[in-house]
Amino acid sequence: MDGAVAIVLAAGLGERMQAEVPKALMAFDGTTMVARAVERALACPSVASAVVVAPAGWEDPVRSLVRPLGVETIVSGGATRQASVTAALSAVSSDSTRVVCHDAARPLATASLFERVLDALDGWDGVVPVLAMVDTVKRVRDGEVERTEPREALAVAQTPQAFLGSALRAAHERAAREGFEATDDALLLERAGFRVRAIDGEHANLKVTTPEDVRLAEALASPSGSPS
Ligand code: C5P
Repeated sequence: MDGAVAIVLAAGLGERMQAEVPKALMAFDGTTMVARAVERALACPSVASAVVVAPAGWEDPVRSLVRPLGVETIVSGGATRQASVTAALSAVSSDSTRVVCHDAARPLATASLFERVLDALDGWDGVVPVLAMVDTVKRVRDGEVERTEPREALAVAQTPQAFLGSALRAAHERAAREGFEATDDALLLERAGFRVRAIDGEHANLKVTTPEDVRLAEALASPSGSPS
């Protein structure tokens, strides 16, 4: 099978960080989140190339971070994550059979997780790594508990998420036509009737959102900074 294309999403501004630079360009474990995420994606034997989505106006700094890693294609992000994926898809050849979408905000995803989601795609339209809910889940409104959800049926979704390129494009086109906005790509496939498989994610693959998360993620990163 031909090599997959990785779309690395780094166009969020990360306003909760209150930093001078967009979140993905912040210093992280001796590098930056975007560079670490790209390194991990390209370390996966099934990934042939990467497209990196940069915040508008930050294309050049992002290019200088990821070009040494072998990335040639940088695109400008959109106003939402979904718009950023759409922008990246316009730079991905329609011949690409498999596409894996990954948030630069998850710099600890390993190359082996990329490999597992791509392997698991066999016979499916999409694959999402998930973690089972270990906490009891409450539905809360205005500070009052409305009810407790059955956690057995729930899981939290991560990236990288792998897709057949044709299904990902069709799901994005449909969402655009219908004005639907999602926080991950798997949801767009689910609502378009594609079959999305859930496989085990990684506990250390946390999503960096706040300054506390940066410290936590750096503590989880190995001393060499590159667990496989
Ligand atoms: O904002 P949030 O942390 O949920 O974003 C998830 C990922 O999507 C991040 O890696 C962020 O850089 C990316 N993103 C993007 N374009 C946007 C918003 C978010 O590429 N407009």
